[in-house]
Amino acid sequence: MATKTLPLAEEKLSQLIKDIPTPFYLYDEKAFMENAKKFYDLFSWAPNFINYFAVKACPNPSIMKRLFDIGYGADCSSLPELILSKKCGLSGDKIMMTSNDTPQEEFEYANEINAIINLDDITHIEALEKAVDQIPETICFRYNPGKDRTGNAIIGNPVEAKYGVTNEQVVECYRIMKEKGVKRFGLHTMVASNELEADYIVETARMLFALCKKIHDEAGVKIDFVDLGGGVGIPYKEDQEPMDLQYVSNQIKELYNSMIIEEGLAPLQISFELGRYILGPYGYLVSKVRHVTKKYKDYVGLDSSMADLMRPALYGAYHHITVLNKHGEKHVYDVTGSLCENNDKFAIDRELVEIEEGDTLIIHDTGAHGHAMGFNYNAKLRPAEYLLTADGKIKMIRRAQTIEDYFETLDFDGAEVQL
Ligand SMILES: *Cc1c(COP(=O)(O)O)cnc(C)c1O
Repeated sequence: MATKTLPLAEEKLSQLIKDIPTPFYLYDEKAFMENAKKFYDLFSWAPNFINYFAVKACPNPSIMKRLFDIGYGADCSSLPELILSKKCGLSGDKIMMTSNDTPQEEFEYANEINAIINLDDITHIEALEKAVDQIPETICFRYNPGKDRTGNAIIGNPVEAKYGVTNEQVVECYRIMKEKGVKRFGLHTMVASNELEADYIVETARMLFALCKKIHDEAGVKIDFVDLGGGVGIPYKEDQEPMDLQYVSNQIKELYNSMIIEEGLAPLQISFELGRYILGPYGYLVSKVRHVTKKYKDYVGLDSSMADLMRPALYGAYHHITVLNKHGEKHVYDVTGSLCENNDKFAIDRELVEIEEGDTLIIHDTGAHGHAMGFNYNAKLRPAEYLLTADGKIKMIRRAQTIEDYFETLDFDGAEVQL
C-alpha cells in the first residue's frame, strides 16, 4: 500500500496557495534527500557505488546541486544538460553522457569536460573520432540485449528499441576501443522504465555481469564499471507496492560475489541512472479548479493542462489526486486541462470528493518527468517550481514563464536569411 501524503499540513498548503499563483510545482527537499541517501546506504557494499541522477527527470539546479552534494552524479543526454551539470559543479567521471543520435558538438563538449561518453552504436566510434582529437581514456557502450529480454510499455521491447549495440556487435566494440588505446571501460544498459518488479533489475545485473565475463574472455577487456540505467518505478497507484530495493541490493551482492569476485573480475563499479525513483514521489503539481461542468460526463477544468504535466495524456499514466481540505462523499469526474486538445485530461472517471470552483487539486508523484516534459502548445506558459526546504521555507527555484519569454524567439517581421 503506497499511502499518498501531502508535503505540508492542509492549513499550511491553503496559506501557500493564497500567496503563490497556481499552477505550480512543489518539491519536498527533506523527503527526496532522505530517499536519495537511503538508496546509497542500500548499496554501500558496492565499490564506488554511484547514481547518475537522470537530469531529464528534473533539470533544476537547486535540486541537482543538493543531490550532487551527497555524491550523486548526472546522467545527461544533450548539450544543455551537460552544461547545466557542469554549472552545478560536476565534471569528469561524475557525468555520464548517455546520448542517442548524438550531434558532434555534444561529443566535443562531453570530451572537453571529461564526462564519460556512453556510445549508443558501433558507428558512433567513428563519429566520436571525428569530433575529438584523441579518443578518451574511458569509454562506455550501451548494450541492447534484443530478444533475450522483454521490455515494458514505456521503454518498448528491446528488439524494437532504437538504443544500444547488439549481441553481435558488443564484443567487437570493446575490441576496437582496446586497440584504439582506451584504458577504462564501462558497460551500460537500460531495459526497463517505471518497472516495479524487483527481479527485473536483478536479472539486468545478472545479464551485465555475464557480459563482463564474455567481453573479458573474448576481447581481453576488463570492464571497470556497469551502469544499470534508470527505470526503477514508483507506486503511482495507492494499491501498488514500491520496489523492495533492499532485496535488489542483496541479490545483486550475491551475483557480484559469484559472477564477478569469484571470476576474478573485481573490482567492478556498479552504477544506476535513477531519476524517477529518486524524485518522483516528492514532487506535486498544485492547481486550482476553474470550472465544474456537466455534459455527457462531469468535468473538472483546472488552471493547468497537459502542457504542465504530459504523462497522463501521453501514456495514460495514473497520477493520484488530492482535493485540498475536502472530505466526504465521492463523485466521478474527468479532470481536464485547458488545451484545445481532447487528450488533455489528468484523470478519467476518477472518484473524488465533490468539487467546486476554486478548489485546489494536488496532483501527486510529479517530481520526475513532470515539469521537465512540459511544452508550450496552445501558447500555454510553463509553470513555476518551488522547493519546500528541509528547514520548512518555501523557495522559488524557477519562475513561471511570462508572455515576454514566450515571444522571445519570435521575429515579427521575419529576418531574411543571407544565403
Ligand atoms: C530516462 C532515462 C533515465 C531515467 O529514467 P527514470 O525512469 O527516471 O529512472 C536514465 N537513463 C537513461 C539513458 C534514460 O533515457
